[in-house]
Amino acid sequence: MEVIRPKHTGFCFGVRRAIERVMKEVAKGQGKIYTLGPIIHNPQTVSMLKEQGVIPVDDLSQVEDDGTVVFRTHGIKKEEEAYIRERGLKSIDATCPFVKRVRKHAVYLWEHGYKVVIAGDKNHPEVKSVLSYLDNDGIVLRESCSIEGRKVGVVSQTTLDWETFRSIVAGLLDGAEEVRVYDTICRSTRERQKEIVETAGLVDLMLIAGGKNSSNTTRLYELAKKVQPRTYHIETESDLHLEWFSGVCKVGLTGGASTPDFIIDSLDRRLKNL
Ligand code: SF4
Repeated sequence: MEVIRPKHTGFCFGVRRAIERVMKEVAKGQGKIYTLGPIIHNPQTVSMLKEQGVIPVDDLSQVEDDGTVVFRTHGIKKEEEAYIRERGLKSIDATCPFVKRVRKHAVYLWEHGYKVVIAGDKNHPEVKSVLSYLDNDGIVLRESCSIEGRKVGVVSQTTLDWETFRSIVAGLLDGAEEVRVYDTICRSTRERQKEIVETAGLVDLMLIAGGKNSSNTTRLYELAKKVQPRTYHIETESDLHLEWFSGVCKVGLTGGASTPDFIIDSLDRRLKNL
């Protein structure tokens, strides 16, 4: 079986940077390290970090006074940042700079009188974080919709696909007098999405590895599925089913931005041995 891997697989820049920061802190061996929610959306990496003593918590009240809080790649909420400051907790900001860029543009629009639209998923931590910096005075859209208003400003969740973003912006042009748009889809996401569509068109079956809770992995799966109906979203090789591979000669294999290389490499070996 031939396995085709697009050029960009494994951790993206933002995830690699966050993991490196955490590991540097672990190496110091000074006090407990906490992340508010999972630092990235990959259960295998979060388990690996737990073994190193990095504790994910749902609530900052669970953090001990001498602990260090790591801000996850998706960013934290404004009120959480204020709480950390008030309690004087040590912190490491591992928020991806591309996520901060979304926030920067959204806040700029909000401060200049625009009704801010975030194109993305309202339940995603990145969107919740950006919204909190607007005092929750923004609208989250996952699909095209017209909004009446004089000035509407738009940003996108970093992992949104270009087609969805474009259709949301087009819908807004129907209702508002002025629409100001910042395309804040991150470059890594854009490259991966482009590559996956190309790869899906070349193979008999496509595998997308990554956390089921990972937004960018799910988006890759949805894009590939449109081109290659035999596309599967898996977390590890234990999710593979032999019957999927009947009559298959070429398999496309990739992972989301939060999928570690070791998972993709082990899948690659397994596929070649099938
Ligand atoms: S996918 Fe893009 S925005 Fe998200 S962590 Fe990676 S580089 Fe940053």
